[in-house]
Amino acid sequence: MRISGAKALVVGMARSGVAAMELLLREKADVRVADARPLSAIDGLEGKLASLNVPFLPQTPEAFQGVDLIVVSPGVPADLPDLEAARARGVPVIGEVELASFFLRGPILGVTGSNGKTTTTALIGHILKSCGIPCQVGGNIGTPPTALVDASRDEQWNVLELSSFQLETVFRFRARIGVALNVTPNHLNRHHTFENYAAAKSRLFLNQTEEDFAVLNACDDVCRGYSRTGRGRPVWFGLRSQSDGAWFDGEYLVADGTKVLAARDLSIRGLHNVENTLAAIAATRLTGASLEGIAEAARTFQGVEHRLEFVAKVRGVDFYNDSKATSVDATRKALSVFQSGLWVILGGEDKGAPYTVLREELQAKARAVLLIGAATPKIARDLSGSVTLVECGTLERAVEEAFRNASPGDTILLAPACASFDQFRSFEHRGEVFKSLVRKLELQN
Ligand code: ADP
Repeated sequence: MRISGAKALVVGMARSGVAAMELLLREKADVRVADARPLSAIDGLEGKLASLNVPFLPQTPEAFQGVDLIVVSPGVPADLPDLEAARARGVPVIGEVELASFFLRGPILGVTGSNGKTTTTALIGHILKSCGIPCQVGGNIGTPPTALVDASRDEQWNVLELSSFQLETVFRFRARIGVALNVTPNHLNRHHTFENYAAAKSRLFLNQTEEDFAVLNACDDVCRGYSRTGRGRPVWFGLRSQSDGAWFDGEYLVADGTKVLAARDLSIRGLHNVENTLAAIAATRLTGASLEGIAEAARTFQGVEHRLEFVAKVRGVDFYNDSKATSVDATRKALSVFQSGLWVILGGEDKGAPYTVLREELQAKARAVLLIGAATPKIARDLSGSVTLVECGTLERAVEEAFRNASPGDTILLAPACASFDQFRSFEHRGEVFKSLVRKLELQN
């Protein structure tokens, strides 16, 4: 596809859209951009477009006319009627990841899955860096792939976290190593059916050849099916014992029959993180990293901020920030890591799933649940009778209340099972506020 001189429209002007626009400009395309929001509502964009001399169009059907190429941000639904109409006219509609893949130098190691993508991507980056294997890390985890192009080099791995939204609009994109962690129902409002969602993720493997590798969770039916998507060689990992690939024998993480490290030596906690580490071991072995190097790096990996992150011990009480636990399922995973003495902060913006599945574990492990935010009445109804409930309203009061009543040896855990948007800008913001409240307690105690 010729980019130089092409009339290109970028749709969706958040981080990925801006990076795509900048790459297209560097490649001498004739660029215009559109967004469903008015220009004045997008932070900092007006000045940027003015300085680059790029026109902004409101997202009306006219904006999609008369262009040779449309690049969509992952935030834009790929089945918008205007995009469908453009495709019907023969205009290529590609995603930001596809655009990046035309220009990225060096092999791509892509990580997808419903859960654990960020953790596994960060861990793979950490292992490669520790082993002295050149890499840069981006995608859904942070830097958009189009913004990685400039620094890419032939002998350097591009480690990309890829969501279903990013993968549904790739066509020629090819990953030397693709990793699929798990596929469970998610984002069905955007993909409509589970089959569509699973198919979007499968595109990571679509263009693989016999030289490429598909690192797949052997314990996940959908991931197993991805072994038939492309021609990449399957490499298996999973939580059960097998003879090849990367496995967990109940105590050790094992790669092709060799014990790599014990699960108790990982600082990231929980069986799901054993699984993520197995995927990272299987993937990084394929880049030539040594098992010793991988083991050492896996041991020193501290996890990613806001994912069951240890914050501090204050007067013998541990504080954990799992603000990323925005679903009931993620909260269950967090609870599974602890034995007892828990003060659990739950609440925020409800996402529709019942909280009743938390009853048993909370009853067994929690001293109390501190409720915050808009979901308070529903959570209180769902958990009523199983555990002491304290309605706190705000995170600040919840931390205060939990700390006042906690004894040394107890754990105060923010794993809210809800989105953050009723009281915070994002789950990151919620986690930051939690950590600053803990820091304040540290200073006072
Ligand atoms: P993602 O980037 O896919 O959202 P993260 O690495 O940010 O994943 O982890 C988000 C949450 O998903 C974690 O806090 C944990 O509750 C859950 N999780 C992580 N890894 C797994 C896994 N392998 N299987 C199931 N759940 C997981």
